[in-house]
Amino acid sequence: MNQPSPNPAESTPPYLTCREVLDFLMGFLDGELTEPQREAFARHLAVCPSCVNYVAGYRTTVRATKAATLPPGVSGSDPAAGVVPEGLIRAIREARRAS
Ligand SMILES: [Zn+2]
Repeated sequence: MNQPSPNPAESTPPYLTCREVLDFLMGFLDGELTEPQREAFARHLAVCPSCVNYVAGYRTTVRATKAATLPPGVSGSDPAAGVVPEGLIRAIREARRAS
């Protein structure tokens, strides 16, 4: 007859705040986040369209910067490839699908 004792700290990690997501963004794009951090990041994007928009805009800026610094003729057919981690693209797609 034990009462179920949910352990929020273990079963449901806290959602990141928008501010924390922005703090993580650089590390995320650089692939420096830990797996739990990336999951929390993606989970926030799945429920926060405004952060998705921000990340999408940031991604465009990064891509433009990369394109501007690449020598002519180096850019491939998809400049976003190699710049944006697959997990981030997936998170954005899922966030859009959910909205
Ligand atoms: Zn947010």
